[in-house]
Amino acid sequence: MPKYSDRPCARCGKMMLHAYCSQRYCKACAPLVRSDDAIISRAKQRSKRAMSEIARVERAARAEGKTYGYYVALHEPQKG
Ligand SMILES: [Zn+2]
Repeated sequence: MPKYSDRPCARCGKMMLHAYCSQRYCKACAPLVRSDDAIISRAKQRSKRAMSEIARVERAARAEGKTYGYYVALHEPQKG
């Protein structure tokens, strides 16, 4: 495998000439993608917490012999 090759930017598709094999984005996109990545990783952190909350509720639901959906519907405040 050559270390350098011509490859398209993973974001804008612009051809990057002689790009390093691990380089996925062109110079214009790299800073933007880095900030996108930061936003995505923060979102993942949030969803991780959401996932653990779901797991907690699911355990509570199972303890009562109910399904997650039923438990949430039962305990969620009524809308309207
Ligand atoms: Zn690009």
